[in-house]
Amino acid sequence: MKTINDFNFNNKKALIRVDFNVPLNENFEVTDATRIISAKSTIIKILEDGGSCILMSHLGRPKGVQDEFSLRHIVTKVEDILGVEVRFVSDCVGQKAEEAAANLKPGEILLLENLRFHDEEKQGDDTFSEALSRLGDIYVNDAFGTAHRAHASTTIVAKYFPETKCFGHLLAKEIESIKKVMETGEKPVLAVLGGAKVSSKITIIENILDKVDHLIVGGGMTFTFIKAQGGHIGDSICEDDKMDLARDIMKLAEEKNVQIHLPVDVVAANAFSNDAERQIMDVNEISEGWQGLDAGPKSKSIFHDVVMMSKTILWNGPLGVFEMENFANGTIALGNSIAEATENGAFSLVGGGDSVAAVKQFGFENKVSYVSTGGGAMLESLEGKTLPGIAAILN
Ligand code: AMP
Repeated sequence: MKTINDFNFNNKKALIRVDFNVPLNENFEVTDATRIISAKSTIIKILEDGGSCILMSHLGRPKGVQDEFSLRHIVTKVEDILGVEVRFVSDCVGQKAEEAAANLKPGEILLLENLRFHDEEKQGDDTFSEALSRLGDIYVNDAFGTAHRAHASTTIVAKYFPETKCFGHLLAKEIESIKKVMETGEKPVLAVLGGAKVSSKITIIENILDKVDHLIVGGGMTFTFIKAQGGHIGDSICEDDKMDLARDIMKLAEEKNVQIHLPVDVVAANAFSNDAERQIMDVNEISEGWQGLDAGPKSKSIFHDVVMMSKTILWNGPLGVFEMENFANGTIALGNSIAEATENGAFSLVGGGDSVAAVKQFGFENKVSYVSTGGGAMLESLEGKTLPGIAAILN
């Protein structure tokens, strides 16, 4: 696996696919700069080598050229974070872009305009990819968030750099973290899967049953499993058409020697509302008119013990409706347990959608080993798929 550390960028122009798809407010100010900060290490290493950086990214979902999606809005923020002046060119291919790239000197940074102003980017168009490739000497992919897309800048362009393509620090770290969980992790390996629906996690469950020793199933998914085993779940969220699947998963887990841990009690509510009445109920005996919206105290304690004995931990999906304060405690407790296990030496990876939001909201970000920067890309990795953006560098 080639990374930027395998190259000396002295006098070279690095064409870097970054993920600067950052949220902007109505004044076009960046409201969360995490993705820019995440790319800093790669950019600085290349500049320190004596190279220059040509940064390319998409922003939002423009339909053709739309000024509100222009990457020029973020130039000042990128300069603040990198501490280096950033030039901007109002197209990503063609004469203007080529001239700007050609004039770039060692130590300088050029940001190209939004790749998605050209439909050819998402189409993975060959001619467009070749036009991008003319701008740099070495292609660096550091955008995990789009690595599951076979777009021009994330995948196709790589073939024009057969010997001079590599991963940036961020993408390399993402790949290593997933590998640590899925292949080389110290045992016991635990996966915690929460979230709303079994149907959205089924491919992940099937894939990770071969990799883990323990699986905690929490959140709304719980109730399809409980009902499938004959429990009474009241009005809790349930996918009746997935009950056979839940039974199959339980059987498969037994065959593969994977211990599945389900909640034994829940915080039930008489409405899907933060202000609803609350009661602790046995997960198998939830009354009609009530729904389980969070893990109960006994469940939290059982999950804590499982987390504490694990050496490698993957967490995807909240254990309850964490967006409502009264049903966030199970998710917070799990975060605390994982933080404690991490402090004791376990490796913990949080990835995919809402668990990342929960981890940030409750301040666990720096207490786990790694928080993935890619939602869809992370989920597809956990499903066992080789992402096109990663394959393009490896091949
Ligand atoms: P996912 O995107 O599949 O990870 O699902 C995350 C969503 O699951 C969050 O919005 C949670 O509010 C929701 N969720 C978690 N537990 C429950 C539950 N017991 N009942 C309903 N929704 C839940």
